[in-house]
Amino acid sequence: MKKSRKPIAHRNVKRRDPKKASQQREAVLNRDGGTCVAIHDYGRCPVRDKAFLQVAHLIRRHKCGDAIYDPDVAVTLCRFDHDVLDHRAPIKDWDSIVIPSEAIDRAEACVRRYEAERASRGLAVVPLKGKSQ
Ligand SMILES: [Zn+2]
Repeated sequence: MKKSRKPIAHRNVKRRDPKKASQQREAVLNRDGGTCVAIHDYGRCPVRDKAFLQVAHLIRRHKCGDAIYDPDVAVTLCRFDHDVLDHRAPIKDWDSIVIPSEAIDRAEACVRRYEAERASRGLAVVPLKGKSQ
């Protein structure tokens, strides 16, 4: 059988719209003042170098629904703290950062806003679990 030339589909490849993702990135970096928002035991993370800054979803991408490209669901993190947040860093580091609670509240409120909007149009909603509304 002939080998397919089709590349193996990467996770998220269909969902990730590069234009929307870069607009989201710009908006998030501007809102957060171009600095990592993570808080360490010594204070706010000092990383400001744009080459190290990434936009991190605070709500798992598959839980964001239509809110996935909204700047409110994400924050600016340096690549090191992004690895901690998403548990790519060693397990001993997982609790080494705190994300400001207002950012988490903003992200949850954003997803709920999109959920409410879908529900009002009679569309299916996969509700965010956790805290009661
Ligand atoms: Zn950082």
